[in-house]
Amino acid sequence: MSVSANTIKKAKMLAKNGVIKIEDDLYQVKSSSDPAKSYFVTSDSCECEGFKNFYKLHHGKGLKANCSHLEAIRIYKKTYESDLK
Ligand SMILES: [Zn+2]
Repeated sequence: MSVSANTIKKAKMLAKNGVIKIEDDLYQVKSSSDPAKSYFVTSDSCECEGFKNFYKLHHGKGLKANCSHLEAIRIYKKTYESDLK
């Protein structure tokens, strides 16, 4: 699925400054709108409203939800963890 340019932009900033690895496949990602807030994110789920609402809006259509936090994890893994594997 396509991800909006704005989401990619936010995700890149978060990957650089806002991701803390808790354990394998569990990360804490800062909210881009409220720096005091953060979300727990795995490779396919996020706690944020955007992610939850995606499934409410698109339920049963076989689409995968996305949000800037999930995308940030993908970028973070690709950029900072790819040479560890
Ligand atoms: Zn999210």
